[in-house]
Amino acid sequence: MAAFGSVFMPQMALSEFSGTRWSEPEMVTTDAITLHPGAHVLHYASTCFEGLKAFRHDDGSINIFRMDANIARMLQSSRLLELPPFAPELLQEMILRTVRLFADEVPQPPGSMYIRPTHIGTEAAIGKAASPSLTSMLYILLSPVGDYFEGGVRPLRLLLEEHGARCAPHMGMVKSGGNYASALQPILNARKSVQADQVLFCPNGDVQETGAANFLLIDGDEIITKALDSSFLHGITRSSILTLARDMGMTVSERDLTVDELLERAAKPTAEAALSGTAAVLTPVGTLIHNGKEHRVGQGEQGPVTERLRSALNAVQWGREADRHGWLTRI
Ligand SMILES: *Cc1c(COP(=O)(O)O)cnc(C)c1O
Repeated sequence: MAAFGSVFMPQMALSEFSGTRWSEPEMVTTDAITLHPGAHVLHYASTCFEGLKAFRHDDGSINIFRMDANIARMLQSSRLLELPPFAPELLQEMILRTVRLFADEVPQPPGSMYIRPTHIGTEAAIGKAASPSLTSMLYILLSPVGDYFEGGVRPLRLLLEEHGARCAPHMGMVKSGGNYASALQPILNARKSVQADQVLFCPNGDVQETGAANFLLIDGDEIITKALDSSFLHGITRSSILTLARDMGMTVSERDLTVDELLERAAKPTAEAALSGTAAVLTPVGTLIHNGKEHRVGQGEQGPVTERLRSALNAVQWGREADRHGWLTRI
């Protein structure tokens, strides 16, 4: 299977904001859009995106997971970036039209169709470093994805970074391109210096998240994860996992977690830690690296609670358990 996100469906829904109105969405060839080299997005990073998935059920139906939550987050990102607002119905129609067109291409579980709505500022105006783009473009990329855990689950190694931040503190909750560029150098340095898979950003000892996934600590029947604030991305997988954990009778503690407390709890033999996100669902963390020392999390392997939570989420997504929270949209 090709690398995640490198295969695209050949058409996508597109709508453009002219400064006064959104155009009627149309299906266009995926690699055929044109952009002025002076477009606002290319200079001042007026861009945000979403990541969600469509799943094929055993009855052949195609179901999109938590589309409404992703649309709401994209609207929030657009607002926080001063990109033109749009009606949620517009984005919903564009997602549905694109997924319907390629319904036959949605892989069987554990594969899925990854959906990438994108919103960019298109105004050719390099003098607008401190003004928003008056025009913008919205489009929906599709990329079929295979089994993320093919070849088994390998617990991740995370470097705890207490000095740098992933992005500016008021930008954490915006799913915007510049934030990933901002986190890239610390991540590459961590790979090179300590063979870490990811950096867990913990500015001033406050455990936040990694470059593209939320962090959860599991201690017995309690899950501890940072409470929502503007400093990090409000993951929809995070929210889904916490809901399923509550359904199972677990205690969910959304609160601040310091590096000291994390290391202390992670040393318990039954401790587990995981990263949550649409791409990887729930990936176990086996090792935390801090000040040159390696700390094993619990047994250093995927723990039973992580596995149970991931299976519970997959069961809803794959149509093998009842959708009790109304998370699926059948196309
Ligand atoms: C997308 C993303 C997540 C995970 O969000 P989901 O809605 O669960 O996919 C977490 N952190 C960052 C920085 C992200 O970009």
